[in-house]
Amino acid sequence: MNEIQIPRRNNLDAFWMPYSDNKYFKSTPRMLARAEGMSYFTPEGDEILDGTAGLWCCNAGHGRREIVEAIQKQAAVMDFAPTFQLGHPIAFEAAARVAEMTPEGMDRVFFVNSGSEAADTALKIALAYHKARGQSQRVRLVGRERGYHGVGFGGMSVGGIGGNRKQFGAQLPYVDHLPHTHLPAQNSFAKGQPDHGEHLADTLENLVALHGDTIAAVMVEPVAGSTGVLVPPKGYLEKLRKICTQHGILLIFDEVITGFGRIGKPFGAERLGVTPDIMTMAKGLTNAAVPMGAVATSNEIYQTIVDGVPAGIELFHGYTYSGHPLASAAAIATLDLHKAEDLPGRALAMEPYFEEAAHAMQSTPGVIDVRNMGLIAGIELEPTPGKPGARAMEVFRTCFDKGVLVRVTGDIVALSPPLIIEKPHVDRLFGTLDEAIRAVA
Ligand code: PMP
Repeated sequence: MNEIQIPRRNNLDAFWMPYSDNKYFKSTPRMLARAEGMSYFTPEGDEILDGTAGLWCCNAGHGRREIVEAIQKQAAVMDFAPTFQLGHPIAFEAAARVAEMTPEGMDRVFFVNSGSEAADTALKIALAYHKARGQSQRVRLVGRERGYHGVGFGGMSVGGIGGNRKQFGAQLPYVDHLPHTHLPAQNSFAKGQPDHGEHLADTLENLVALHGDTIAAVMVEPVAGSTGVLVPPKGYLEKLRKICTQHGILLIFDEVITGFGRIGKPFGAERLGVTPDIMTMAKGLTNAAVPMGAVATSNEIYQTIVDGVPAGIELFHGYTYSGHPLASAAAIATLDLHKAEDLPGRALAMEPYFEEAAHAMQSTPGVIDVRNMGLIAGIELEPTPGKPGARAMEVFRTCFDKGVLVRVTGDIVALSPPLIIEKPHVDRLFGTLDEAIRAVA
């Protein structure tokens, strides 16, 4: 391995780090310099087991040669070409490959560059669809408390995290939120889908009673990840689907985390047995080697919008990098790996072992809940009075220093390892987390 230069302290100033405590980081930097398989390596060469697949995204593990080579090859053939009124074959191939994985009938794929762009694109498509079918009164959007749909104005407004909004004032108008589905009194330590909470979908009926036919779409994550792993109660998504269908409302699944095998099937829709009208994806699409996201829609939505305009541009939306050649190449190579290695199948096969290891944390002092599905687990810690999130942050730092990467959100430690994880990794992941929680307590 080439020796990797550690940036000098005064070189840390320029990068304004996203979603970070810049002051703390720059006083005590923890750096990652190389990645391979299940592991990161620090600039000093210390191995860090990746318990988070980067940020829920490197599902096939790190440094996959097939993806690297596909990107290199494409970069040499054609670095960039626009997809506004022009095309290049690899973007069409990538879209067809995504459509092969999405639920039947959801075969139209709009490329974007991130989960946030996917969220805003999905919301705009929903509004454009209603307008194209003569229902331009449908302008209301419904999200859910504790939903995360990225940081664009659409996703931030429809998302249900007050902390993400409070610095910014203005939000999208005409947005409502369903209650979140976390019912700790009834469902704590549930394995997989909890038993209680189907009724929470009824709130959508109340919104329909209030707003009539002005609701355009409801957007939820099949399993909410970023706000601490909230698995939908049994019957809840089915009920949302039914109410949406009854009232002409589009159902949007944000599959940015749950897509590409994370919960044991290509998409959460399949695992949970509910098909939305629109789904967003990103992260695992290219194994995060190149940024890319996508929105898949039903054929009917595409056809309605496209047929709604006799000639000329049909949807006034798109990004310079929509269907970028390098991202398209990375996506195709990633989806080849998914097929060749049956990554969703691997995740499903590992789930029982991972689930047992996660729930064994119930005996760790200070753990007040464990939630899981597929290769996602949330371990909730009792907060330190007056200091929300402080304990979990300390656990994150302790784990890192012990050679394991976890993610924290509030007082919840979230785990989402690459889908190639083996049993000894699972043991090390939870063993180190247990030690860290005890050490911090
Ligand atoms: N939606 C969901 C469900 C996510 O988890 C995320 C990112 N964690 C996003 C959207 C936003 O994705 P990005 O950071 O790529 O914009």
